[in-house]
Amino acid sequence: MKSRVRTARPHVNQNEALIFERSTPGKCGVDLPPLDVPSASPAEALGSLYRDGIEGFPEVSEVEVVRHFTRLSTWNYGVDTGIYPLGSCTMKYNPRLNEAVARLEGLATDHPYTPETLAQGCLQVLYQTAECLAEITGMDAVSLQPAAGAQGELTGILMIRAWLTERGNPRRYVLVPDSAHGTNPASVAISGYQALPLKSNERGCLDLRELSEAMTDEVAALMLTNPNTLGIFEAQIQEMAALVHARGGLVYMDGANMNALVGVARPADFGVDVMHLNLHKTFTTPHGGGGPGSGPVAVKKFLEPYLPSPVVERSSDGSIRLNHDRPKSIGRVRAFYGNFGMAVRALAYILANGPEGLRQTTEDAVLNANYVLARLRDVYDLPYPPPCMHECVLSDRRQAARGVRTGDIAKRLIDYGFHPYTTSFPLIVPGAMMIEPTESASKEELDEFIAALRSIAEEIEEDASFVLQAPHTTRVSRLDEATAARKPILRWNPSPRS
Ligand SMILES: *Cc1c(COP(=O)(O)O)cnc(C)c1O
Repeated sequence: MKSRVRTARPHVNQNEALIFERSTPGKCGVDLPPLDVPSASPAEALGSLYRDGIEGFPEVSEVEVVRHFTRLSTWNYGVDTGIYPLGSCTMKYNPRLNEAVARLEGLATDHPYTPETLAQGCLQVLYQTAECLAEITGMDAVSLQPAAGAQGELTGILMIRAWLTERGNPRRYVLVPDSAHGTNPASVAISGYQALPLKSNERGCLDLRELSEAMTDEVAALMLTNPNTLGIFEAQIQEMAALVHARGGLVYMDGANMNALVGVARPADFGVDVMHLNLHKTFTTPHGGGGPGSGPVAVKKFLEPYLPSPVVERSSDGSIRLNHDRPKSIGRVRAFYGNFGMAVRALAYILANGPEGLRQTTEDAVLNANYVLARLRDVYDLPYPPPCMHECVLSDRRQAARGVRTGDIAKRLIDYGFHPYTTSFPLIVPGAMMIEPTESASKEELDEFIAALRSIAEEIEEDASFVLQAPHTTRVSRLDEATAARKPILRWNPSPRS
């Protein structure tokens, strides 16, 4: 594998010339019949909007345009072309079945203002999705309104605030472990609380003693991710919950990592009071590219009155209705009922798998991550002891001694035909290499991925500078990342008219 990759060079031929370079004066992609209705001149009709041409605009034929965009699409990488091992992102395969269901006429075109009596099918989807998520988490009630994990966090913390406020004191702090996703302290701050960081211990977990010292009468909640962002299960979560509850606080669980628990363990049984889920991670609704997300919140019974309004309920006659009469609700957090199409996809996925299938998904995801960890730990540093859950975190400590960092290894991985893992997160692991294979990867694909990372480790021993210049086989090599981030050129601009 190594020698093949080393010699590979971008295959540039005439077909790959950019469309601007292929422009030939007079070429055109359309051939319109002569106008047969009276018309004003374009300049008259359009007024100040009229332009008689765009300088530098390519003149190309229809087939050249089609080939240009089709070619560009093949330069991309996605979940449909190979393993996408971005730790924390759960980039699993999105079954085509979900898409077919989401495009069913009644579901895709129903208007959100359709009267409830005429929208029973859509309401049924919302009701049933919430019911399934309640069963999976063990919680009592679910709102599908939040549009992302981060918004689910905000919703959950605002509900905690509302509940405490009603008891006379909203309190001031929320405890957040130092391994948390950046959205956690952000949601805490937006909810009017101050985040107090808690140090992880040598096992990569939150320390019970540290928690017990930090937990005062001014702490509103513990905000814990489980499994945490190191991919490690917080096995003492029940004791932690008891400790927080004893001092009148609540437990928020960031459930973005539910891919490690679905069908195997229920957060409600850990003592969790409120949590969010990421449908676009765990439940195969597409993510990336700025598409719509969905971050439902699930709560215990006593927090139900505070859920965002409206809630989807079943009436005594069996029909489903939207209840807006919610005096304690924190209000609406998203237009209408959230990203409805995401609920459709998630429900399709849950029903297609069934309880057995969902459990197997979890077991396969955890098995895959542990397999990767076991086969790489002799070449890359392992900061925290195994086993891991659905993702594993290695580090570049050994390679850093030769000047090669996690980002360099990730770039070299591109030459081997793989999407990089997550680099430099979580922040508590210097040079983190965070790998989440998900259940979608076969053993054969994992073996190739592992072979690539092992080969790169060897290359670093032989010739670190070669890896430092990677990627070698892509159309664009190393970018100046600072300039790319600060002065991005995101689209073609016509040159200004002289
Ligand atoms: C992805 C993620 C989030 C945020 O979810 P978004 O949908 O991106 O807002 C929060 N916490 C953890 C642990 C995550 O992995």
